[in-house]
Amino acid sequence: MKRLLQAPNLALATLWADQLSAAGIPASVQRAFVSGIAGDMPPDQCLPEIWLFDDDRLDEARALLDEWRHPPWRHWACRRCHEIIDGPFEQCWNCGAERPQ
Ligand SMILES: [Zn+2]
Repeated sequence: MKRLLQAPNLALATLWADQLSAAGIPASVQRAFVSGIAGDMPPDQCLPEIWLFDDDRLDEARALLDEWRHPPWRHWACRRCHEIIDGPFEQCWNCGAERPQ
């Protein structure tokens, strides 16, 4: 097993571990319950961690996480309804049309 990263909170750690597993990279959350004794430990040692079962997938997992933490910001106009879309969306929120390539 290899440590991938420290997550800022348990909700994110769980979400990312689930997403990694769904993407075919088995991951688990460690130290999820340490925060209960946080008063006795330095704060940076109390954060939940994501560990990978497969050491060889570390780079792949890092690339995926980078995408999830920094989704590409786009600005485009829908071809069907001419709505202006701002944000990491691949579909028009108004009519559901796909983003033009
Ligand atoms: Zn549209």
